[in-house]
This record gives sequence, structure tokens and C-alpha cells, in this order.
Amino acid sequence: MTAKDDPIIGIDLGTTNSLVAICDEKGSRILKDGESNLIPSVLVFNELGKVLAVGHRAKTLKSLDPKRVLYSVKRLLGKGKKDLAALPFKLPFDFSPSTDEVIRIQVGAEKYSPIELSAEILKRCKFIAENALGRPLKKAVVTVPAYFNDSQRSATAMAGKLAGLQVVRILNEPTAAALAYGFGQSSQEDSKIIAVYDFGGGTFDISILKVTGKIFEVLSTDGDTLLGGDDLDHAIAEYLEKKSNASPCTEEDRVLLLSQAENIKKALSVETKVAVQLQWAQKLQWSGQITRDEINAVMKSVIERTLSSCKNALKAANLTIADVNEIVMVGGSTRVPLVRSLVKEFFKKTPNTSLNPDEVVALGAAIQASILSGETTDALLLDVVPLSLGLETMGGVVSKIIPRNSTIPCAASEMFTTYADNQTAVDLHILQGERELVKDCRSLGKFKLRIPPGPAGLPKIEVKFLMDANGILQVKAIDKKTGESAVLEVSPSFGLSDAEVESMLQAAFENAQRDFAERQLIEAKNQARALIQATEKSLINPLLDAPFRAVQEQKIRPVVKALKIDLESAALEIILTRVKELDFITQELAQAILNRSVSSHLTQQSIESISG
Ligand code: AMP
Repeated sequence: MTAKDDPIIGIDLGTTNSLVAICDEKGSRILKDGESNLIPSVLVFNELGKVLAVGHRAKTLKSLDPKRVLYSVKRLLGKGKKDLAALPFKLPFDFSPSTDEVIRIQVGAEKYSPIELSAEILKRCKFIAENALGRPLKKAVVTVPAYFNDSQRSATAMAGKLAGLQVVRILNEPTAAALAYGFGQSSQEDSKIIAVYDFGGGTFDISILKVTGKIFEVLSTDGDTLLGGDDLDHAIAEYLEKKSNASPCTEEDRVLLLSQAENIKKALSVETKVAVQLQWAQKLQWSGQITRDEINAVMKSVIERTLSSCKNALKAANLTIADVNEIVMVGGSTRVPLVRSLVKEFFKKTPNTSLNPDEVVALGAAIQASILSGETTDALLLDVVPLSLGLETMGGVVSKIIPRNSTIPCAASEMFTTYADNQTAVDLHILQGERELVKDCRSLGKFKLRIPPGPAGLPKIEVKFLMDANGILQVKAIDKKTGESAVLEVSPSFGLSDAEVESMLQAAFENAQRDFAERQLIEAKNQARALIQATEKSLINPLLDAPFRAVQEQKIRPVVKALKIDLESAALEIILTRVKELDFITQELAQAILNRSVSSHLTQQSIESISG
């Protein structure tokens, strides 16, 4: 099957607007919904709670009962109920009470999860693309913010699945924007640092990318989920109120003033002055001329807040302004000339603005789609794992399998065995975080692998961690002897808020020394217990003759007893010294067992060869 038979679309699933694009022999282009490139991420429901309209038609019906209009669902995607309280704003939805962690919104008689709602938006994108291309479509690349965690990425992929789309790749929005500008498509190995400055209607994101040949790495991200073009509108509206000496009284008038402020802002992105007739409450409140310079003075402090995020992102990436080779502008607010000039002044470089900032992410997603479908030459896109992933081992210690900042897709495996005789199952507990102990990490899930009973230490269980290019984790445990296996995929209901990721990293940093000491102690105790178990087993080995056993018992038993007492209370050093002592004192016993088992094996063989 060729790429032409099975085209892949690129979707920018946005908080306010979504876009769908394709990249084929005509190049990368947006697939329009009628006249418009943007598909509002808005849903309207009928009285029964069934979906009535999504996109443009939903926006025109927005004046219906507000309880039947949903928007900004991306802000809830992949989050759990406990994250609701931590949201820095309140969404006026009817959140349905339930016993589980999953967020559901009540609309009429129906309840919807953010995944189902996002699926409706993706369905609309699929429908528009199928209409434009005149053929059914099955696959898509969907973009997400670079800071989205595992749960948010899995939730996005799941929404695609519900929409009837196989999400072949979850792509970071800044990576998509850089791709649209043609970065990452050369086979030269030299690295470039790209700052992607994304200033939309309600959010600001800055991402620092490193592109080496065709490989993208996200070095750092920063931003403000409550800073956008809306804040510029509010600042301008406040200025207009002062200038006209009139204030709107009703909520409706305030909305009118805000929309006039937005229009002035947009007009002044092109013109240097505009004639304004301010109107609300059905009357002319003020008329006159407003200049770009005047408005620039009003907007400056808001725009400067984005620059402090840029500073933080550079610091987190351990870079300076001089290291940045390119700046890519994304989002409608980057059309504001003052935004462009302040960004230029900050980075001391002219930003890339030749593409439409609303479309750049979707265009990049379509380019990545065509790379994956084989339509464009190969390129590899890589991101990093935000927090380490590991497995619980004996004594509540975490064994890290995939370390933080590993480039994805990645896979790692480790061999484990049993600690007790005749275990019939191995419990696998997947954890995320930088801390050494299970109690301080975040549990991602548990599963069991059944094994046939046998002596401790004999089974060989291979545990494979696989983080795919979409950042979704699959853990597989395989019993190497029986070939039996069990798999766990991390479920999106385990939502982590951004603030939690941050605080987990902070806690790991602050507790690093204490955690390490605690881990050393647990590991020493594990080692001691295993040695005690093996020694006690050896002392009753039937291959030993009675006088030799008696001598060994007399020598070894007191040390075993002392080590058992040390295990209860002693410090690391004492346990380690005692373990060494026991190790040394049991050498004769171990050697004797080895000799006797070898000679018994040889005797057996010679008898077999004679009788044969
Ligand atoms: P986005 O979320 O990327 O669609 O960005 C929407 C934001 O871009 C809104 O705050 C708009 O007011 C703003 N915007 C769109 N066009 C312009 C323009 N020509 N000049 C200034 N701001 C604009």
C-alpha cells in the first residue's frame, strides 16, 4: 500500500481552536471548514445531552443555555479529579460526582469524560478532512503541548481512537512548529537551538529545542497557562474606559467593550493609527483616534511577562541567549508588532514570522504525517521522558529502568527473580519519580505475572519498559522459562498536574542525600536476609556429613544470630561488616558443598556410563 492509498492527516488539537492539515504532492496545507481554517474547539449539546454541533456551528449556537456549551476541554484532558481543585481558573461546568478519579461533565442526562469530548472535536476534524479530500481517512498525527505528561498524551491518543483515528504519532507542538519552518529536515549533524515562542489567546508557552540533523529534543519548557491575548484585550479595555471616562455597567456591555478592545488591537497590528467609535449600552461612548504607540505602552507590561518565562526556560536548559540560533513564532498574539519587537530585543535576533502563526503547528503535524507515511524523506523526532520510570523491588526500593530525560522512543529491560521459595506469582509495581523509595514515588499501576512454584532465585523474569514515540508506557513481564507474559499499559486516569511534576522534582532534589542513605540501608538489609536464608539452607544440606556440619554450625550460627539482631536496629556500617564476616566464615561450608555436589554428580555419571 502506498502513502497515497492511506494518507495521514495532521491535527492541531487546540484549547480554543483546532486545525487539520495534509502534506502531499501539493505541499503542506490546511484543510478548510467552509471558508475558515480554524475549527473552534467548542461543543454544543441538545436538551437530552446528545452532541448537537461541534466547531463553527457550535460557536454560533453558543448563546444557547450555557450548561449545554462546552469549551477548553483540552485543559482537563488526562487529568484526575484531584487536579480540578488545582486548576488556576474555574470552568463553569457541571462536574459529576463519582467515586472514581475520572473527571466527568454532566450535560442533560449524559456524562462525558474529557477524552470523549476531545474525541468529538477530533471527529469533526476527521470529517472536515474527509470532505476536503473526498475520501475516508483512518490515521492522524495529533499535536500536544511539550509539557503534557504520560497521562495527557495517552488521553489524547485514546480520544483519537474513539474518533475512529489511529494516532500514529503524538507530536509536541513546538516540534511541529519548527518542522513547519523546515528545521530538522537536513541530514547534517550540526546542532541548532530553537526557541519556540507560542503566545495564543489564553496561554503562553516557550520551548527550547535542540535539533541535531533530523533529531529533535525538548531541552526545557516554561510558560503561563493564564497569560494570553485575552490579557492584552483586558489591558486595552481598561485604558479605553479611562480614556472615554465611561464604564460599562452590565456584563453584556463589558463583553462588548472587550471585543472592541480586541478589534483595536488587531487593527493596530497592521495600521499605526485607527479611528475608534466606542459603543455600548446602545450609545456612542467615545470617538477619536488611537495610535499604535499609545496601545504599545498599555500592552508592554503584559508582554514583558512572557520574557521572564523565556529567561526561566533558557536557565532550565542551561543555555544563554547567545546559544539560541532561531526563534519560531506561534499563536495569534505573535501578530502584535510589539510582541515581535520585544522578542527580537530579548533574543537579539529576528524571529521567524513568515508562516501564519495560527497554522504553523497543524502544518508541521502534516509534515510529520507525510514523513511517517513515507511521502516525505525520513526524519526522526525525539522527545524526552520527564520523570524516571521504574519498578518496586525488595524492601520498598525503586529500581529505575528508564531514567529521566531519556530520549523517546526508548526501551529498557532488566532481569528479576523471586525472593521466597514456591512463589506462584510475581507482583509488578510501576513507579514514576526521582526518589529512591516506593513511598516517595508516584504509583502508575500494578500487575501480576503467574509463575510455576520453584526455589527462590531460580525464576528469570524479564521486565521490559517500552516508551513509544507518543510517550505512552507499556510494561511487559516475561517468564523466560515458561514464556508466559503479562502486560500493563499506563492508564490516563492517573493524572498528574504540572505543579505535581515540578514538586516531585524539587522533593527529589531536596531529599537526595537522605534517600540515598535509606536506599543503601534497605539494600544492605536485603543482602543480609538473602545471605542468612542461603546459609541456613546450606547448614542442613544432606550432602554434609555430621561431624563437619557440627563444626560449621558451631562456627556459623552465632554470626547468623548476631546479624539477625543487627538487622533489627543497627546502622549500615555494622550490617555491612557483619555481612562480610558471615560471607567469609561460610566460605569453607560453601566450598565443601560444591566439592561434594561435583563428586556426587561425577559418581552418578560413572555409574550411568558403566550400567550403559
Ligand atoms: P490563538 O489562541 O493562537 O488562536 O490566538 C488567539 C489570540 O490571537 C487572540 O487573543 C487574538 O486576539 C489574537 N490575534 C489574532 N489575530 C491577531 C492580530 N492580527 N493582531 C493581534 N492579535 C491577534
